[in-house]
Amino acid sequence: MTQNDDPAEFILPGLLYGGDYNPDQWAEEVWLEDVRLMQAAGVNCVSLAIFSWAKLEPQPGQYDFGWLDRVIDLLHAHGIRIFLATATASPPPWFSRQYPESLPVDGNGLRYKQGSRQHYCPNSESYREGAARLAGRMAQRYGSHPAVLMWHVNNEYACHVYECYCDRCRDTFRGWLQARYTTLDALNDAWGTDFWSQRYGQWAEIALPNRTLTFVNPSQMLDYRRFMNASILALFRGEIEAIRGAGAVQPLFTNMVYGIRWLDQFEWARYADYTALDSYPDPSLGEQAWQTVAFAYDVMRSAKRGKPFLLLEQATTQVNWRTINQLKPPGMMRTLSYQALARGADSVMFFQWRQSKAGAEKFHSAMVPHGGADGSRIFAEVSQLGAEIKRLSALLDTRVPAEVGLLYSFENVWALEIDSKPAHIEAQEAILPWHDALVTASLPVDIVHPDMDFSGYRVLIAPLLYQLTADQADRLRRFVQSGGTLVMSYFSGIADERDHLCQGGYPAFLREVLGLRVDEWQPLLPGQTARFQDCGGRLADALHWVDLLHLDGAELLAHYQGGFIDGRPAITRHRFGAGHAFYVGTRPEAAYLRDLLVGICVDNGIHRLLGAAPGVEASLRVGDGERYLFIINHLQTTQSVDLLGKRGIDLITQTQIGDRLLLEPYGVRLVRLQF
Ligand SMILES: [Zn+2]
Repeated sequence: MTQNDDPAEFILPGLLYGGDYNPDQWAEEVWLEDVRLMQAAGVNCVSLAIFSWAKLEPQPGQYDFGWLDRVIDLLHAHGIRIFLATATASPPPWFSRQYPESLPVDGNGLRYKQGSRQHYCPNSESYREGAARLAGRMAQRYGSHPAVLMWHVNNEYACHVYECYCDRCRDTFRGWLQARYTTLDALNDAWGTDFWSQRYGQWAEIALPNRTLTFVNPSQMLDYRRFMNASILALFRGEIEAIRGAGAVQPLFTNMVYGIRWLDQFEWARYADYTALDSYPDPSLGEQAWQTVAFAYDVMRSAKRGKPFLLLEQATTQVNWRTINQLKPPGMMRTLSYQALARGADSVMFFQWRQSKAGAEKFHSAMVPHGGADGSRIFAEVSQLGAEIKRLSALLDTRVPAEVGLLYSFENVWALEIDSKPAHIEAQEAILPWHDALVTASLPVDIVHPDMDFSGYRVLIAPLLYQLTADQADRLRRFVQSGGTLVMSYFSGIADERDHLCQGGYPAFLREVLGLRVDEWQPLLPGQTARFQDCGGRLADALHWVDLLHLDGAELLAHYQGGFIDGRPAITRHRFGAGHAFYVGTRPEAAYLRDLLVGICVDNGIHRLLGAAPGVEASLRVGDGERYLFIINHLQTTQSVDLLGKRGIDLITQTQIGDRLLLEPYGVRLVRLQF
């Protein structure tokens, strides 16, 4: 097992630029044109063999590595490095036929068929063994090839299969529960089985949480989410063991899909040398598209404690898997690529190099479109970006400093989304506005797991931190006591790790720190708002939720207007020890939330990087005594940007940037700051 948190000896040869390369879909004469065009586009790295299992092992135990040998040597001869996949992402038809029990089963008990991709049960022994065997063969054969830069393990785990209800999963779940609880008494206690007569007398009575008449036991469901995360993680670890067992020493990663919340990415990051993301913001969101991926990039960087991550996949323009797939207008691909670099990526890569002529993703865009490279708007933009990235190697391995942390855990998301709550909650939809408020104000923020070290942060923001253990609460108490500032939202500190609700008023373990108690709430209907006014007289809308607060030492900062909540507290502040704890019992409208968080940051000596409209993104990367300021205009209008006294040289155009500038639509500046 690798647990490689600091492979300090490995340094990337430069910022990496390229994409998934699927030469097995093309005749070998096309490969020669590919490497020539790759060089023209500035490509220095490709991800290879991700879906090549059927070509590499056409029959059980019969391997054909000849074509892969030739393409790896060809890429090497042209100076192109390789992320070599273990090729295990999609088992070939013979595999599913030979091991029908390896196919996953849905919530209605129906077994899936092959014919698409990712058709494996996370607990299938035959899949686990087959994948590890192929990963080992790949590592044995190519582990010492000088072109192989890293191992790309599997692909987009849990993109389609994040749960399975087969008998094998049921039996494995029972074993997992026995290991977790030891006794049935402990399990019965944790699951609260005295409700609805669910008390278990034997392990064999425990079923998977599907096909129930109404709400499933929520503690059982939370354990099932943990179990599935652990099952899929075991597949990843099995491939890692096979790669290391074969003696391959290159760093390795697996690519996460943007928006997939079924895997605990903080836990997974412990086993990968790099975190890696496939990023597909919807271009039809226009000027807001970038905000939907900023959070995912911040998770990637934060999960590895600030180490640069890999942007492994994005689209040059369209995808093919939404109902309506709009293109990226000229300039948008470039700004979204710079966004990844700004938030800590050391690579910019695409799915895929050459657009497929057949198969389910033939309408997904690529670096080389169906019409060819000549005269192509897409290839021209790809080549321009490739040329720019070559000049930015100073960014390599620099860090994105942040003094604000947003408390977030995947377990909390799983717990929030289990039904039978006061309202159905889409966790990301509810949490992201708090992150948006910071990033649209050009305030750098890390995503901090509540078990992580809080030192280094001056402000911690806890949106909908429903699940909060006694230990996590104790560490937050000490954070505030010793001078930190905590901003906690509604529906936080409600349940422990078993999904048991704490008694005596919410937020259970932090009432004293916050100086208040919540004993009722009103979830708002879609489109319904409440109104509140702060002590400065500013009026704003309250969205999603209204907590009914009782103050016990906290100071009133804003109160509701109208209805039965008229005059009741909406936002409060409490001095506790040397620090402050704010409570925001609703979601203020976006502009108010942004101003509130900016004000709290400024009071803590944390300042915005820029003065600009919310659609202008800013980020800082720091290293070797240098500071690099990214300024990205995601808007389709020219923007006036105030650098707030900063100045320096733009690395892209080599021009001097003063303390104000006019930034054209989709304009980017990358300023090496002068002190
Ligand atoms: Zn299964």
